[in-house]
Amino acid sequence: MSDLVVVEGLRKSFGENEVLRGVDFHVPAGSVTVVIGPSGSGKTTVLRSLNALEPPDAGVVTVGDATIDFGAGPPKRAELARFRAQSAMVFQSHNLFPHLTTLRNVTEGPVVVQRKPRADAEAGARELLARVGLGDFADRYPHELSGGQQQRVGIARALALEPKVVLFDEPTSALDPELVGDVLAVMKDLAAEGWTMVVVTHEIAFARHVADQVLFVDGGSIVESGPPARVIGSPEHPRTREFLRRILDPLEGSSPFD
Ligand code: ADP
Ligand code: MG
Repeated sequence: MSDLVVVEGLRKSFGENEVLRGVDFHVPAGSVTVVIGPSGSGKTTVLRSLNALEPPDAGVVTVGDATIDFGAGPPKRAELARFRAQSAMVFQSHNLFPHLTTLRNVTEGPVVVQRKPRADAEAGARELLARVGLGDFADRYPHELSGGQQQRVGIARALALEPKVVLFDEPTSALDPELVGDVLAVMKDLAAEGWTMVVVTHEIAFARHVADQVLFVDGGSIVESGPPARVIGSPEHPRTREFLRRILDPLEGSSPFD
């Protein structure tokens, strides 16, 4: 299958801090890539490079129909806009507009940014809300929803932009544990529907069951990548093994109860 994302030689520093040290990967159309790795390893920066929320210092990045060579000087505004329109991001915390209903939160992007007729946008939004299990919540305000429901609205809002690729940055890590499952179930359904997804998450079971490929990032590089059965099931690199050991059994090793 053809690639919807191709990343070559991605580099990024914040001042003296070299955060991405040459990252390369590709994402076939209709596949799910899960990015795992320790806090501060550069996962969010990789994701934000894919929609140029954080423009890289160097690297050639293709997302959908747009390619930018970030090492070739600042991209033109129109080029950047086209690049950004290829993807949509679901954040750790949903960032819904508190004063707008669920429906309006989902239609705002298509109407304001994409200039879609409101009636079309609303029809699409109702369909998407039903798809994330919130068909009856169109007229509710964010504060009337649980954290998990809010996050599902965040997913509907991202999909409403009709992106080629959906980017998720730890979409469940701010949720109460009992709300995580519903959000992951929606993401699993989207994967089955054929959405192309890049997901930063610590949910190893999700990676194991849903990912087509797993990227283990440490120190600004991809240390190991491949299908989950290999990267999670039988990791080759000691740093991958150490990371997985720590998140699968947080009490092992440096137990605070010792
Ligand atoms: P992760 O998502 O894996 O936790 P990040 O990509 O957020 O890692 O961050 C990687 C490194 O880059 C960290 O050292 C972080 O402090 C730094 N960093 C991230 N964003 C910025 C920023 N806007 N300004 C300065 N430093 C940043
Ligand atoms: Mg992060």
